[in-house]
Amino acid sequence: MLPNDPPSDQSACASTPTPETPALSPSDKPEEACGVFGVYSPGETVATLAYFGLYALQHRGQESAGIAAFDGNQVNLHKDMGLVSQVFNETILSKLPGALAVGHTRYSTTGSSRVVNAQPAIVPTRLGSLALAHNGNLVNTAQLRAELSQRDHTFITTTDSEMIALALGDEVNDGKSWVDAAASAFQRCSGAFSLVIGTPDGLLGTRDRNGIRPLVLGTLPKDDPELPNRYVLASETCGLDIIGADYVRDIQPGELVWITAEGLTSIQWAKKAERKLCIFEMIYFARPDSVMHDESLYSYRLRIGRQLAQESYVDADIVIAVPDSGIPAAIGFSQESGIPYAEGLIKNRYVGRTFIQPTQGMREAGIRMKLNPLKDVLAGKRVVIVDDSIVRGTTSRKIVKALRDAGAIEVHMRISSPPVTHPCFYGIDTDSQDHLIAATKSVADIAQQIGVDSLQYLSWEGMLTATRENTNSFCSACFTGEYPISVPEQLKRAKLILEKEKVAPV
Ligand code: SF4
Repeated sequence: MLPNDPPSDQSACASTPTPETPALSPSDKPEEACGVFGVYSPGETVATLAYFGLYALQHRGQESAGIAAFDGNQVNLHKDMGLVSQVFNETILSKLPGALAVGHTRYSTTGSSRVVNAQPAIVPTRLGSLALAHNGNLVNTAQLRAELSQRDHTFITTTDSEMIALALGDEVNDGKSWVDAAASAFQRCSGAFSLVIGTPDGLLGTRDRNGIRPLVLGTLPKDDPELPNRYVLASETCGLDIIGADYVRDIQPGELVWITAEGLTSIQWAKKAERKLCIFEMIYFARPDSVMHDESLYSYRLRIGRQLAQESYVDADIVIAVPDSGIPAAIGFSQESGIPYAEGLIKNRYVGRTFIQPTQGMREAGIRMKLNPLKDVLAGKRVVIVDDSIVRGTTSRKIVKALRDAGAIEVHMRISSPPVTHPCFYGIDTDSQDHLIAATKSVADIAQQIGVDSLQYLSWEGMLTATRENTNSFCSACFTGEYPISVPEQLKRAKLILEKEKVAPV
């Protein structure tokens, strides 16, 4: 295959039948955006490593999955709708030879839920094809698309990720090297982007100038010290652990790493970089066994549970969690308050998080309870139930009713994050503002609506102080409306429904 030929496997993959959509899980949560993974191990076939990396990152996106593998100049791609384990099997992986691979799991935040929008996105260039996997959301997609339109591009997808890939392709076709082209292309992008990009010459990884979404670097062990290093890039450290890679460090905001057979080169492409990591990654999105700031997120979540108990103690008999994401904070609440922790809700893990349907109508129609209350634990008890967030409030109401039906005599809800009052523009689907229950209702009104005896949220200060990091180094815009990357008026109008009057007409 010639370097600029379309990937051999793309159309075949696109026609692979889409699995049946199983029953929906409760989706009254912010939805993760995507997981990205890249691996370069000279002399080895790495598609299976990419598969397992994506498998560990499945929680970040369940709509589609894809892997592009480079065998010299040839790139082979397989992507489809579904979970990583549904999209790939050994036969498919055996058709993805090569020492460099990039992978992606997707939840759609821009572009509809269709296989054509699944990633990696492939773009041919004069230096061979590139394969790009993106986590985050650009806020200047319209501007970038207008710029790109002047060069007669045909857009295959409706995603901002394709815009980044095309911008990079244009820079390469203008005569630049991969690294110079990437640095130029990234300057043209505004918003959140953690990227892993495969090329015939090496693997490239970067984070936007604010490092909104995470990206970590790891190395795989090697038997012979003379052999080239084997590098891995992943959204979270759990993507390293699963393949036995060692965590090396985080990719820094505005940094680009270029990994070839000669080793790793680091370039700071953003002159003004200021870390603003999404605080929701720590509260909920990332897996509790992933490490950020030298500790597992389990430890952070335990601490915010303790903080929550300090801020909102209530006399009760047991503390329970909304499983699984509320468990660490519930244990922390129990430790701090002295109220025993118990399992009051059993999750049917085999229902699974599968396809998260992206429209509100489908969500409302598709919500199914998959939590079963333990009557003998709950009957006659005053219960504190801890969850990590409330977005729309629909699931909370059902859970509270289930607890009461099981015999709980009091239900006190405690939330290990502040009220979500603003939408996210940086790659997390928190819905438009009018769907956020805390944007329109007071805490007392929410308590009444979901049917609890009391409701309290963690304070914004408590959430940030518990990070033990510089509290200015986080994005917490969905709790405050203070967006670290300015959002164009047109985009704001689409989501900030309740603040329309404040937005000047264009
Ligand atoms: S707005 Fe909220 S969800 Fe979006 S990046 Fe900021 S903290 Fe994360």
